[in-house]
Amino acid sequence: MSLRILITGIAGMIGSELAFQLATQGHELIGNDDLSHNCRDPRELPLAQMLTCEVGQLGYFLHAIQPLDLIIHCASPVGHARLTPEAQIAWQIVSDTQSVLELAERTGARLITFSSSEVLTYRGETDIRAQYALGKLTGEAMVLGHPSVQGRVLRPYNVTGRHQRSDGGFVMARFREQALAGEPLTVFGSGEQVRHFLHVSDFARFVCLLAEKWPAEKRWSVLNPWNGTSIIRLAHAFAAGGHPSAIRYQADGAAELANENWRDTPERVLDIAGYDACVALGWQPRVTLEEIVREHLTGELAKGEAR
Ligand code: UDP
Repeated sequence: MSLRILITGIAGMIGSELAFQLATQGHELIGNDDLSHNCRDPRELPLAQMLTCEVGQLGYFLHAIQPLDLIIHCASPVGHARLTPEAQIAWQIVSDTQSVLELAERTGARLITFSSSEVLTYRGETDIRAQYALGKLTGEAMVLGHPSVQGRVLRPYNVTGRHQRSDGGFVMARFREQALAGEPLTVFGSGEQVRHFLHVSDFARFVCLLAEKWPAEKRWSVLNPWNGTSIIRLAHAFAAGGHPSAIRYQADGAAELANENWRDTPERVLDIAGYDACVALGWQPRVTLEEIVREHLTGELAKGEAR
């Protein structure tokens, strides 16, 4: 069945990939973005309509938006390099969540929102990075506890793809740009910290599946447990990927990202039961770590396949 779907943050890495996959399935898409930090030009995307405004202003466009079956809320502050006091991280996440909840209530649409695996790593801190985790956790409670909106919450782990921007501080995007520029790859801290990378096309496939099947389970961890690597090993993979680069060990993240509020999280708790639930729904991640690194370096996922 063809749905009419509003995607916030459409010009971001995840929103734009979702647009391509959902349009291929025959859905009608309304895009929304304030174009403050876009990865793609919305004119390249298969949209029936584009609303260029902040999420909090979407209510003004109710007549243009209706009727609506589903809202997928991708807009969010992203990237630890960009987490600063001025960005009002927690407030922005919570107020945007409130806005999409109100929109869902007024239109009767279902709602999918994105939290973060970061909520599992939160240990009672009160700095800017904590605002991100707490904002996302509060957003989960707002959606899952809403009395009338049918909401689902996803906790993605380290989603990446070649359109990911390096100014967010994301390791894959930074290693890509450093390697292509022939600059040393900056490994923060010991480099022993481990992450599990999920290709954006795999993540978007899961979102499509969730929208289609709409299972009773309300919260989903979406990860690729097969794509785990220490950051130092990842640096070696980039350095060996056709662009020989030096590796700069123990680089200071706060200095490199020019953000004195930056803090690393050494661990990322893996929700394997959550992964099993995704598999039971009929999903499997397909893109390997090697393919992800190659895509960052060459722009192609498989030979000749680039979007
Ligand atoms: N990282 C790094 N060098 C960089 C950028 C990031 O060593 O130039 C590390 C960072 O310290 C973290 C890991 O890579 O331990 C993943 O960082 P990212 O911001 O991509 O994701 P997150 O911290 O949210 O998992």
